[in-house]
Amino acid sequence: MKAVVNRIIPFSSVDGPGNRTAIFLQGCNIDCKYCHNPETRKLCVQCGVCVKQCPVGALSVGEDGKVVFEPSKCVQCDTCIHVCPHDSSPRTCEMTPEEVYARVKKQIPFIRGISVSGGECMLWPEFLTELFRLARKDSLGTLIDSNGMIPFEQYPELMEVSDGVMLDIKAFEASEHVKVAGVTNEMVLKNADYLARTGKLYEVRAVIVPDLYDTEKSIREMGDFLAPYLEYGDIWIKIIAYRPMGVREQYSHFQVPGQKYLAYLADILREKGFQNIILI
Ligand code: SF4
Ligand code: SF4
Repeated sequence: MKAVVNRIIPFSSVDGPGNRTAIFLQGCNIDCKYCHNPETRKLCVQCGVCVKQCPVGALSVGEDGKVVFEPSKCVQCDTCIHVCPHDSSPRTCEMTPEEVYARVKKQIPFIRGISVSGGECMLWPEFLTELFRLARKDSLGTLIDSNGMIPFEQYPELMEVSDGVMLDIKAFEASEHVKVAGVTNEMVLKNADYLARTGKLYEVRAVIVPDLYDTEKSIREMGDFLAPYLEYGDIWIKIIAYRPMGVREQYSHFQVPGQKYLAYLADILREKGFQNIILI
């Protein structure tokens, strides 16, 4: 079994607790306007557009018509992802859980665990299950970073080997969620309920884009919704300011909220009983 891997970051301190190896899988099932890594959204369709644009010849077309990437030649200029008309990247590769874990293993003395993100990593549940089994054998932590559009309840084997989920609640009201991500969020809230009740809701994340949806109302409603679950255990909340870096040009004009406003939103959540709120 293989997944398409966009990149592996050996050390990350922003993808869960402690130092972790972060693995980004390719492909997503929604379309967030503020997506910071839109090149992870789709699988490469081998159109070849990026090949001619690479300034150092790190891309070519193989005999099978597929794009070949030579990492040793790449100068990380990102031209290929900027010119790709399909929100993809030629710098991905298909890997088995064992191959990915072989890369993780090199970092074991220095990391507390692994976090898998995307794209949407829940599009690869069997791969995740196997990767987490391998990590657990070496006593590494295992976290999923997800948009919550796929029902976790349907993957008990994965939940068994996962420490928890860092779940996006992109907007609380369904119609507001549509504005952000193009789809409603009933499944996200169902997942939040399931994960909180089973002690697997490690963290909830909200990206604050005041120009895009009613952020204060959403944070208040999200707090009211989640507060009763605090009896099952602590829930970390990460409030993330929208920033235009990496965002597609047509969505890069939103105003960046100030730290003062984020602190105000955090106070709203503290009043509702949340102790651990991180502002980014
Ligand atoms: S990032 Fe690498 S592969 Fe892509 S265009 Fe630049 S040099 Fe070529
Ligand atoms: S990465 Fe994009 S531009 Fe390059 S071959 Fe794949 S789909 Fe085409």
